[in-house]
Amino acid sequence: MRKWVLRITGVLLVLIIVQTVNTVRYQPDAANVAQIALPSVDEASLVRHVTEAVQFKTISTTGEMGQRGAAFQGFVDWLVQSYPKANAAMTRQMVGGFTPLYRWQGADAALAPVLLTAHYDVVPVVNADAWDQAAFSGAVVDGYVWGRGTLDDKGALVAMMEAVEALAGAGYVPPRTVYFSFGHDEEIGGPQGAGNVAAYFKEQGIQLAWSLDEGSMVLQDVIGGLDKPVASINVAEKGYVNIDITAHAEGGHSSLPPRTTAVSKLANGLTNLQSGPVPGGLTGVSKDFFDKLGPNFPLVQRVLFANQWFYRPILEMVLSKSPPTDAMLRSTKAPTMLIGSPKENVLPQQAMATVNYRIHPRDSIEGLLQHTKDMVDNDAIEVKLHDAWGAEPSPVSSADNAAFIALETTFRQVFGDIIVVPGLTVAATDTRHYGTVADDSYRINPFVFLDTDIARLHGVNERISVENLVRAVQFYTVLIDNMGK
Ligand SMILES: [Zn+2]
Repeated sequence: MRKWVLRITGVLLVLIIVQTVNTVRYQPDAANVAQIALPSVDEASLVRHVTEAVQFKTISTTGEMGQRGAAFQGFVDWLVQSYPKANAAMTRQMVGGFTPLYRWQGADAALAPVLLTAHYDVVPVVNADAWDQAAFSGAVVDGYVWGRGTLDDKGALVAMMEAVEALAGAGYVPPRTVYFSFGHDEEIGGPQGAGNVAAYFKEQGIQLAWSLDEGSMVLQDVIGGLDKPVASINVAEKGYVNIDITAHAEGGHSSLPPRTTAVSKLANGLTNLQSGPVPGGLTGVSKDFFDKLGPNFPLVQRVLFANQWFYRPILEMVLSKSPPTDAMLRSTKAPTMLIGSPKENVLPQQAMATVNYRIHPRDSIEGLLQHTKDMVDNDAIEVKLHDAWGAEPSPVSSADNAAFIALETTFRQVFGDIIVVPGLTVAATDTRHYGTVADDSYRINPFVFLDTDIARLHGVNERISVENLVRAVQFYTVLIDNMGK
């Protein structure tokens, strides 16, 4: 009896000691960056330019460009008029109709070029009346510029051009060649803009060292338990596919229904599908993200992250509870559309659900098709791709090469004491095109982003603070210089 107690006490003691040592040693990376004097920014000109940019109704919808083309051409011409020094220092060609591709010759031709990108098309405004400031006004109120596209993604585009205008005006030459690609159809998949820019690079045999696009922000109060902002430099993006699940039946009049119909079969299939998530967890890019974040959490979480060998199942369970962190761990599935009978008194001959998948880099379209079949678990139910279009997840870019260090250094120089981690973009960006001609691809806009901003993206009252805009100009200015190091 005594021996037992002693043994258990001994094991517990060892566990406690090991976990304590692990936790104490689990510290954020020391951030040693040279502090620099940040460039001054012409705030009045910057704000005026963002206002003007928002006023072009460059709305992306599928179908012919037609009448909408005038707004797009207007924006492209405005870029030339508003940034004379940048336009004089760079060459420009139009790609896919309305996407300007700028090239700024660098000092060292031996260095592979870098691509900085943003898009200037925006999603439509559905409930215009709900906005506090008109959606295409670009109104400056309470220290913010308001309007569709300020956060996504005209703000970044204007900040890049402001940086080049000032640098070019001072006779600055970038250390390596920089391309700027400003896509006009990102919101509908980017086939004309980014797609053709990537095709052009391929044709010309131009391989980029790296590219930078939207895809994350500097997150403040978005991830619970962290008091510092987090710059999530996203090194990969999820893929995308829709899968149809169809149940068949006889049909007939609804006054004489059999006990099972196409609808009830489909409901069963969907319940089976939803009975468990796509397998996932703390591996690969998901692990890298939480490993870098972990040391910054309060003590209890830090103990868990520092001792993943022991607590991994608990950690994965906790992270799976909230949709944003769950989406970091695995592919997600969301039934979004349902089709049944066209009339209320007719039994449907088929009932169909469309399930939208966002594919984690460890998975594939083929694998998720199989997952769907296995989970639905009924050979009489048909499972197939919704349409020919789908995007595999991107490759995972390096988080310890010169490019990542240049980005991380720039974030620390411009934003001060923040957390920098490699992350995963759960939506889709133009980089699924650009990434095919770049050794590495990164996705983040240099804007501080609050959890209350999430609803503004593609929603009501999209706006950006003047403070964010000024810092973004400083970010791109410093980044262009850090590219050579
Ligand atoms: Zn966007």
